[in-house]
Amino acid sequence: MEELCSFTFEELADWLERMGEKRFRAAQIFDWVYRKGAGSFEEMANLGKELRGRLAANLGFPLLKLVSTQDSKETTKFLWELRDGQRVESVLIRSFDRRTVCLSSQVGCPARCAFCASGKEGLVRSLSAAEIVEQALLIDRMLKEKGERVCHLVYMGMGEPLENYDAVLKSIRILNDEKTLHISQRRMTVSTVGIVEGIRRLAGEDLSVNLVLSLHAPNQHLRKKIIPFARKYPLEEILAAMDFYGEETGRDITYEYTLLSKINDGEEHALELAALLKGKQCTVNLIPYNPVEGLRLERPEKERVVAFREILESKGIRATWRYTKGDDIAAACGQLALKKSSELTNFGVPG
Ligand code: SF4
Repeated sequence: MEELCSFTFEELADWLERMGEKRFRAAQIFDWVYRKGAGSFEEMANLGKELRGRLAANLGFPLLKLVSTQDSKETTKFLWELRDGQRVESVLIRSFDRRTVCLSSQVGCPARCAFCASGKEGLVRSLSAAEIVEQALLIDRMLKEKGERVCHLVYMGMGEPLENYDAVLKSIRILNDEKTLHISQRRMTVSTVGIVEGIRRLAGEDLSVNLVLSLHAPNQHLRKKIIPFARKYPLEEILAAMDFYGEETGRDITYEYTLLSKINDGEEHALELAALLKGKQCTVNLIPYNPVEGLRLERPEKERVVAFREILESKGIRATWRYTKGDDIAAACGQLALKKSSELTNFGVPG
């Protein structure tokens, strides 16, 4: 079955035409979905009963069912169930008047980062474009009730976005469309562990989305330990691809560096990182590790984070220190879904 939210406006009009319907119906359907908050085809009152029945029989919508939410002061975490029973999550981050949604692009993740709950179980499957679009759409509907809107998107939830390239790209184009949520591409950020061919391909898409590399180590040897998936791509090739992306799109490049106590947070690591990034137009975003239950990794002391940042800045590298919003609700990516799935597994074990 095809999925309604995987269609661009033109694609839906083409699809309707192939079904023997008028193209203008696409505008009515988009209006119901993206403006009026319809939860089913049945609610689309200006479509005939027969058409509503044909749409329901041929197009999947909605695909996501909300299982639970978890609130903290500045974040809300949403756990969704998909039609095949798999679960993914999204996080709404509130910062002043900015409403950012962190989207998942896959169920599980192939990157298997040492510090991440999502990576623990590996990749289960990629999400469709509609499953990504609906995360933003359904959260935007909830915000609208309070007079708020989603204005920023980050592809930093479960999954490696560039390993689900086509669906992620499609979701960017759909969510950017003025007939949908109309979120500026400049307010969208894709985060990758460094899929070289994906970065270079994205640079040629005529987009202006921001790109973030999850770097986490100043050399290939240590990086392979922290991100097992990274052994496929030499660090120099990844950095060259990131430079290429910056040159082609004019967007700033950001490197994320999760600080893990006694693993990558030493003075020697900061010096090596500064040497690696010397002369690059970039920002390093330092993220003190957010502890995950069941993983034997620790968050560095505040003094070590401050010292690390000072070393980078003394070498001319712009560095920010990102406070991880939502620590209190376990907002490390994948953590909520992992928790729920292990609860379900334990429930099924006899005795
Ligand atoms: S940190 Fe991101 S890339 Fe790494 S395993 Fe988790 S979801 Fe995947």
